[in-house]
Amino acid sequence: MSQMHELAIIGGGPAGHTAAIYAKRGGVDFVVFNDGLTGGQIATTATLENYPGVVGPISGVEFSQLMDKQAEQIGFEFEASRIEKITEENDHFVLTDDYDESWRAKVIILAAGAHYRPFPLEETPKYHGRGLSYCATCDGNFFRGQSVAVVGGGDTALEDALYLSRICEKVYLVHRRREFRGQPVLQWQVRGVENIELVMPYTPQRIEGEDGVEALVVKNKETGEPKRLEVTGIFSALGLLPNSELVEGMVETTDYGYVKVDARMHTSHPRIFAAGDVTDSPLRQIAVAVGQAAIAAETARCWINENCAIEMERG
Ligand code: NAP
Repeated sequence: MSQMHELAIIGGGPAGHTAAIYAKRGGVDFVVFNDGLTGGQIATTATLENYPGVVGPISGVEFSQLMDKQAEQIGFEFEASRIEKITEENDHFVLTDDYDESWRAKVIILAAGAHYRPFPLEETPKYHGRGLSYCATCDGNFFRGQSVAVVGGGDTALEDALYLSRICEKVYLVHRRREFRGQPVLQWQVRGVENIELVMPYTPQRIEGEDGVEALVVKNKETGEPKRLEVTGIFSALGLLPNSELVEGMVETTDYGYVKVDARMHTSHPRIFAAGDVTDSPLRQIAVAVGQAAIAAETARCWINENCAIEMERG
């Protein structure tokens, strides 16, 4: 039978890292999982600026490497395992990975983050790895000197367009509304770049190309008029969906699947806590994720350690 841990932390992004740092410092016996990749979504972020102490430009990959170095220094290691199932047995949980290996823990912090919303066209699978990408920093270099389209109007789309404008000849930024959702500072930057063309209010209709992307056909949302963008690359930046399937039916979620948490990061299950992009947080930023994770770790420690000063509902 697998060893019983006091705490299992699921997630290798900034939230999972922070929960592990606090658990380690709090003397909690824990196991922390990433699925073999360090950094979570941050690893695919072009540059990071809006985090204290970070003097940019620093890439998401560099930031992830720093987190790993810090983990080593503090003295914890990630289990490179993808947890696929959580079951409840008496007073503990059993966590099982995709190789059927299992771990036991009394409480859980879910910091599993979120994943990209799929590109909404039927032919999408045909173009995966053939011109359609969800990660500008990972794949941008393949399109050096070419024309590409970025689809979306949030921070990711704006950052991707800026990043690609330095590599590509031309960047079409396709968004379904006339206003961007992303931060004003990024909007100003995007509007000031010569080789970024704003294509608004348009939505994707069709991808054309035999062996790879040759064009993206978009439709004007107001007039219905189509437009053919001759591009070899399409970068989808349509937002996120929460990785909350693991706790489906165990905790309350919003209609979109985000895990509901209170100010102490309790979910509706008394022994499951959550932090970061998997939660119904009003702002999905590293600063928020790490703050939530610090609280979640402290709440978990207090659940485990009855001598804790914070008053706890143990359920
Ligand atoms: P997001 O803010 O949810 O934006 C997604 C964009 O995709 C929206 O503009 C949305 O349009 C559009 N969209 C969604 N579904 C669509 C569809 N079916 N067809 C066409 N357009 C569609 O996602 P995100 O930009 O990935 O950001 C996710 C979170 O991470 C946000 O909280 C963001 O602030 C954060 N983030 C922060 C930074 C940073 O601080 N530097 C960087 C990246 C991400 P509408 O606007 O019309 O809804």
